[in-house]
Amino acid sequence: MNNFKLAQPQNIEQVASLPPDKKVVLMAGGTDLLDEIKNEVIHPDVVVDLNTIPGLAYINSTDDGVHVGVMTRISKLAEDATIQANFPVLHEAALSLATPQLRNVGTVGGNLCQRPRCWYYRDPQVECRKKGGSRCFAIRGRNRYHAILGGSICHIVYPSDLAPALISLDSEVTIATIEGDKKVALEKFYTLPRDNVRKENILKPNEILKEVRIPRAKDGAKSTYLKLKERGTWDFAVVSAAVNGIASGNTFQDIRIVLGGVAPVPWRLEKAEKALFGKRITEEVVKRIAQDALADARPLEENAYKQELAATVVTRAILSLREGPRP
Ligand SMILES: Cc1cc2nc3c(=O)[nH]c(=O)nc-3n(C[C@H](O)[C@H](O)[C@H](O)COP(=O)(O)OP(=O)(O)OC[C@H]3O[C@@H](n4cnc5c(N)ncnc54)[C@H](O)[C@@H]3O)c2cc1C
Ligand code: SF4
Repeated sequence: MNNFKLAQPQNIEQVASLPPDKKVVLMAGGTDLLDEIKNEVIHPDVVVDLNTIPGLAYINSTDDGVHVGVMTRISKLAEDATIQANFPVLHEAALSLATPQLRNVGTVGGNLCQRPRCWYYRDPQVECRKKGGSRCFAIRGRNRYHAILGGSICHIVYPSDLAPALISLDSEVTIATIEGDKKVALEKFYTLPRDNVRKENILKPNEILKEVRIPRAKDGAKSTYLKLKERGTWDFAVVSAAVNGIASGNTFQDIRIVLGGVAPVPWRLEKAEKALFGKRITEEVVKRIAQDALADARPLEENAYKQELAATVVTRAILSLREGPRP
């Protein structure tokens, strides 16, 4: 682990005005960042501690939805009564994540900006494409947990549980920049490796994620998060599905389906969303639509199982929201 300076800014403008430099990194809860430093995956000169900035941890309801400050601890999000009552998908995703101790320390912003878990990326001895090398070692190496969609030159899966849930709710994020705040749909925040293999999102070096806004839940909205893990204890998703829709009898309108664990970004199944619109929901219909929507998957040698698994997770999540007997 290298020596670094610790910066403790008093306001977000001080962070935004830092010189854009790859050797300056932001720290929220530190549950991911400190692992990266200790394991010598990154070697920062300056760590900027966001904990010294007041006013970044809040959950506020207003006319245009619920505003969540990025330094809100995940445990606070999970236990918030408004979130629980209006956005079950987010409540369930927050509770599915890591362990109670990590949820007490980890923040919403850190969860949305965490780095990939690919074992080649996390190995300090390996200089893969994401770290500036010329090869993706996962393509011909061990790739059981890697992407089946959107991989191309780097097959990471984006590990955040909150991101698919928040995208299914059509959330928007505020980014603090030196020129002032800008807002963007969370769905557009994440970028594919083909756009820039070194990064997972649109943030520039001196920009900070500041707030997440979840639009008000529509009348009749129902949502859920289904996460499949290999272990009963803490684990990242092998595949997860966030589903949010308006159910009327046995049909859905406005359904949004976002997968975790299958692609370098939270992956929206727009084809399935369109196909499900207004259709009478039966197990056969949902299963066929989910399988069709995943037909574009391009698995690697060891992860073809994810294609069928993802279709099953989507099917189960949707069926759990329809009226009548649960599957
Ligand atoms: C054992 C273990 C299990 C885990 N299990 C899960 C899991 O099941 N699901 C899951 O989703 N995650 C999991 N995680 C990953 C992660 O630690 C947590 O998701 C946590 O929420 C990260 O938040 P943090 O505040 O600690 O982030 P930090 O470690 O402080 O930061 C993470 C990254 O985000 C950047 N960052 C932080 N805040 C901002 C900001 N406001 N603006 C811009 N960049 C920022 C940092 O520079 C860093 O690169 C796990 C981690 C561990 C160690
Ligand atoms: S998947 Fe990405 S992070 Fe993993 S080895 Fe390939 S290039 Fe590196």
